[in-house]
Amino acid sequence: MSHANLFSRRALLAGTALTFAVTATQGLSGGALADEKVSKQSAKYQDHPKGQQRCEICVNFQPPNRCRFVQGDISPKGWCQFFAARDNAH
Ligand code: SF4
Repeated sequence: MSHANLFSRRALLAGTALTFAVTATQGLSGGALADEKVSKQSAKYQDHPKGQQRCEICVNFQPPNRCRFVQGDISPKGWCQFFAARDNAH
């Protein structure tokens, strides 16, 4: 093995250790939560209601336009397959 290969292998190992440390820290602080959101496509998100079901009456809705599960901005009038009505929803 040449010196160059040895060096890049060491750099790779160091990089892996660093990633582990960052991931562990995020896990403890809850910072990794944002990365666990799913894409609109996987959630089968649509920007219009499904019958009476819509984001603004969903337990996962975070006003004005965010969702606990779905990435990016969503519409209060949108809908996805993770819809769960709030207790007082109409
Ligand atoms: S319907 Fe889906 S996208 Fe809308 S708030 Fe609920 S979980 Fe999020």
